[in-house]
Amino acid sequence: MQTVGVIGAGQMGAGIAQVAAQAGYRVLLSDVSADRADAGKAGIAKQLARAVEKEKIAAADRDAALDRIETVGDVAAMAPCELVIEAATEREEIKRAIFGTVGKVLGDTAILASNTSSIPITRLAQAAPDPARFIGVHFFNPVPVMGLIEVIRGLATSDETVARVEAFGDTLGKRIVHANDAPGFIVNRVLMPMLNEACFALGEGVATIPDIDAACQLGLNHPMGPFTLADFIGLDTCLEITRVLFEGTGDPKFRPAPLLVKYVEAGWYGRKTKRGFYDYSGAEPVPTR
Ligand code: NAD
Repeated sequence: MQTVGVIGAGQMGAGIAQVAAQAGYRVLLSDVSADRADAGKAGIAKQLARAVEKEKIAAADRDAALDRIETVGDVAAMAPCELVIEAATEREEIKRAIFGTVGKVLGDTAILASNTSSIPITRLAQAAPDPARFIGVHFFNPVPVMGLIEVIRGLATSDETVARVEAFGDTLGKRIVHANDAPGFIVNRVLMPMLNEACFALGEGVATIPDIDAACQLGLNHPMGPFTLADFIGLDTCLEITRVLFEGTGDPKFRPAPLLVKYVEAGWYGRKTKRGFYDYSGAEPVPTR
């Protein structure tokens, strides 16, 4: 495999393009327009420049990686790709439309993969030309830092597709884990109920935001507490995934905490809106309850 296509040049797509280019692949990167794809590549250039400053990579390696990334204005240009990873906005109709379009130009051994966090792979595969060559590859944010890929096979995904994607993940230096096509896969299935439970605990007055965060950080030896983490992920995203777990399993244990719903309804999404469980407008985060 030499040429990899990445569709969607947002935080995940740009990260995937970066690590693939650093691993030596030629990368074709697209978004809704050539300008958006270029903006994605500019973001990668910034990340790599920072890595050079910190002496994590050599300037020559940065230049070589950037040279390997070509932005394209149209997915038709992805015809030579042996693997295309879709990392566009988490909306099913957008992803289906992408698979329909790029599926028409790909060769008949090419693999189409989705970085979806929550949409069932078997269902998405129906929009791909060949469900046997369709698969979920769930990277983690920020992609250059996080060492994991969850690989999710749909009902029709072939063993060969799984093996080729595993080999690709190995070359990126990521640990591969296999998950079945179940709501939330592995990480979100385990993580989101914890974040949601922290919201229940806060809503029921068990403890304050800083105390719940400190308790989980120090008592569980996590790098950060649940509210700090939820604010990083985005409370809208946390709620969306919790709803997927709830609706996908039909199990009431996954029902979203009313307080989480309330924060999202208030537009308090976390760091990206400068306010979530903490207020980020000052020098230090301040709890909002
Ligand atoms: P993002 O909003 O940063 O980027 C999405 C990009 O997709 C945008 O640049 C947007 O312009 C582009 N896009 C929209 N429609 C498109 C189209 N038709 N063709 C090409 N590009 C299109 O979002 P993100 O956080 O990078 O998430 C992308 C995917 O990765 C989603 O499926 C998300 O669920 C998944 N994901 C996100 C995270 C995370 O922590 N953010 C982690 C794992 C997986």
